[in-house]
Amino acid sequence: MFNLFWQGTRPAVVAALVAVALGAGAARALAQKAAQEPADLVLTGGKVHTLDAKQSVAEAVAIHDGKVVYVGSDEGAKAHIGSKTEVYRAAGRTVIPGINETHVHAVGVAQGEAVEPFQQLGSIAEIQAWAREAARTSPADQWVRLPRVDITRIRERRMPTRGDLDVAVPDRPVIYIWQYANRQVQVLNSAALKAAGIDRATSQPDKGRIVKDEAGDPTGVIEDAPGLTSKFLPRTSASKEQVLDALEKVIRAYHRLGITSITERGSNVEGWKTYKELQAQGRLTARVTLTIRVGSDGSVEGTERFIRGLPFRFGDGDDWVKVGPLKIGVDGGVLYGTAWMREPYGPQALPLYGLSDPAHRGLLQMDAEKVKNVIRTGHRLGWQMCSHVTGDAGVDIVLDAVEAAHADSPIDKRRYTLIHAYFPNPETAARAARLGVAVDTQPAWFYKDGDALLDALGEKRLTPFIGVATWQAAGVKVALNSDHMQGIDPDRSLNPYNPFLALYTAVTRKTESGQTIGAAERVSRGDALRMMTVDAAWLHFDEGRKGTLEVGKLGDLAVLDEDYFTCPEEQIKSLKSKLTVVGGKVVHRAE
Ligand SMILES: [Zn+2]
Repeated sequence: MFNLFWQGTRPAVVAALVAVALGAGAARALAQKAAQEPADLVLTGGKVHTLDAKQSVAEAVAIHDGKVVYVGSDEGAKAHIGSKTEVYRAAGRTVIPGINETHVHAVGVAQGEAVEPFQQLGSIAEIQAWAREAARTSPADQWVRLPRVDITRIRERRMPTRGDLDVAVPDRPVIYIWQYANRQVQVLNSAALKAAGIDRATSQPDKGRIVKDEAGDPTGVIEDAPGLTSKFLPRTSASKEQVLDALEKVIRAYHRLGITSITERGSNVEGWKTYKELQAQGRLTARVTLTIRVGSDGSVEGTERFIRGLPFRFGDGDDWVKVGPLKIGVDGGVLYGTAWMREPYGPQALPLYGLSDPAHRGLLQMDAEKVKNVIRTGHRLGWQMCSHVTGDAGVDIVLDAVEAAHADSPIDKRRYTLIHAYFPNPETAARAARLGVAVDTQPAWFYKDGDALLDALGEKRLTPFIGVATWQAAGVKVALNSDHMQGIDPDRSLNPYNPFLALYTAVTRKTESGQTIGAAERVSRGDALRMMTVDAAWLHFDEGRKGTLEVGKLGDLAVLDEDYFTCPEEQIKSLKSKLTVVGGKVVHRAE
């Protein structure tokens, strides 16, 4: 598969070869410039997987002024080394283009970390231990609020009960909140119920429900009524400077895994300003594309007003901070029983989600009419659009809207993106391909949640779950990423953002317990890596600048500690970067 045609090829020949891809003028100009000036950084002796169209493997890369000026043999690289050039000897290690992580919430991570470092709790005992410790160390007049834990990631596969929390902390209010988009469940311990004044005499709220037992006493569970406790929750916020410091830390953690570009996948004007500020201070070391959430009532006029009020347009920015698509939230999530599904969740799923209606199919955030309004309006005003949509019926609604927008004016070159789209089928994939629609999806969720969801949703539904091959077979471009929301540890954050865990999962279709589900959805190591590099760049119209190592592209790369392409499969998930380079500058070097 991989050829070594670069070996011994002279720089001029290489320049001529890349000229085909780049446009002869641009490549010639770069080659000329390279001949005049030594490079800033030259990497030699590597196994450089360029991921170019021919899947070429080279030995050396030279970067000057932020861009790749040479890819080829060690011999040819000598001409680019001057007295001030930093030379890195890769000693036979595998080198890949920098990873484009296209779905994170890094500003949110930073805001959280600046207040209280996130801990992923994995069992009721860990939840109790955490609550006990928090009660010991936090101000006595404050409620103890547990960190977010999804049920599928708790060993017992259930929420803590009032009793569990009472055992841990009998004398102070403790609250556990399980929520996503349009569904919320709170669990209060007895002290919290008392402090909130909720007892058997309390009448039901207008919206939501205080769950009571047969004797009429509150169980501690409150459904969809956040207002009953919101005023008691500890209010903590970080200063702007603390958030910037934490954001820098998050980005450094990304670099340790070879990530060089990120997509902030649900941001706003404030988030954009945060990155602009970090950039202005000279502290931004990753390239950022921002996805902006549409804040409108779902009407055509409201959406138009929102878009016209934005201080930027689609595509504005530079190589560091760029305005990407607009985003809407269509349904909920598969961990909450709110993904909008064609078929009911079924009786065996109800206990996991705490649901009682066997006909339950999920919950929509927006009805089909509103989805259509927003997508057509954004498209008409020149924006690329994307949707958070997890369930198969949710995807149907989105594709109907994309089709309607396409009838207004062609959308099939606009790379409309389905975010999550966890239950692919060949017919939907073919329809998406016809509309030029792409997919942004998260294999690590399959790894973390596949075991619990298999028991709840059954094998038939789990077989294509977060399937990548179904999309690929239909010709749909897929970007693999993480949806990183909280925490710094790459494997114990919410959600794990370790790109090599995502690659491992896409290649093996193995869950955390080691079982394989839906083996037909496996993809090759090369294809999986392209979904985190060049295909991920394509999502943002950046394939001409990023995602491969070719002359004229941005000088972003990672040197891996083991060979991704040949190491034992189980080792893939623990790969790390030895050296990460962004724009020719070293942003991470392993000790
Ligand atoms: Zn997200």
